[in-house]
Amino acid sequence: MALCWAVVNQKGGVGKTTTAVNLAAYLAQKKRVLLVDTDPQGNATSGCGVDRRTAEGDAYTVLVHGQSVADARVATAVPNLDLIPGTINLAGTEMELMSRPEREYILKKALAVVDDQYDFILIDSPPSLGLITVNTLTAAHQVLIPLQCEYYALEGISQLLEIVERVRQRLNPDLEIGKVILTLFDGRTNLAQQVMQEVKSYFGDAVSPTVVPRNVRLSEAPSFGQPISVYDPRSKGAQAYEQIAKELLSDVERKTGTGSGTGGSHSRWWGRRK
Ligand code: ADP
Ligand code: MG
Repeated sequence: MALCWAVVNQKGGVGKTTTAVNLAAYLAQKKRVLLVDTDPQGNATSGCGVDRRTAEGDAYTVLVHGQSVADARVATAVPNLDLIPGTINLAGTEMELMSRPEREYILKKALAVVDDQYDFILIDSPPSLGLITVNTLTAAHQVLIPLQCEYYALEGISQLLEIVERVRQRLNPDLEIGKVILTLFDGRTNLAQQVMQEVKSYFGDAVSPTVVPRNVRLSEAPSFGQPISVYDPRSKGAQAYEQIAKELLSDVERKTGTGSGTGGSHSRWWGRRK
């Protein structure tokens, strides 16, 4: 049964897609991973080297036309990493789903079909808190929140947490904040340090101890259709995402008792979907 993470922040440009693609690629070195691109911009799709114009299905056809995820997914050039592409068609999706019954559960139900074929599912979300993001939160076990290390990093976070709380109350009682990931970190500035402190006092232990530096290799990789693990695995950006992927894996091991931790008590993570 797959553990599902939704990468969410309603702000654009904070590193959601970069985080989703690169964590997915590193996790795929150890486990079977499905990446779901629910953003009409389709950046996670092109970032994986998949041409969205030739894709036979996408998150739109899954959500709106009920296409099976098993048919919509494509293999990427990264072994063990499959993708459900995102295309511009998703731009109208929220309107089309508005009158559907159980409209918040559509993605969750769609993913259930392939649940036993993956260890992890990562969902890249659009920069909004609309129905698509509510679907990604409803489908997920945990939220990953990338925050850009800038002055307004925490702006909008109370709204985001409010949505998370509402989804937890009404739609997905087990939803947890998995990790807060500081991105685009420039250690040379006092501001970045200050923001880091502020985010830590707000989120406490949920903040990953590994911050993702501003690193030009991370911004170049998508134009080659490659995750950083392929494009430049020795870069600082690569090392950060590799480390965060390790943190996620050890969190999972600890919580599911598959590692050396105390084990067992959080097995609800893996038993919930059936
Ligand atoms: P979002 O999905 O939240 O809109 P992206 O992941 O697309 O954000 O990142 C926005 C832009 O910043 C992209 O051009 C991306 O390549 C670049 N970027 C993201 N993270 C980094 C980083 N750590 N260092 C340098 N550039 C980055
Ligand atoms: Mg994005």
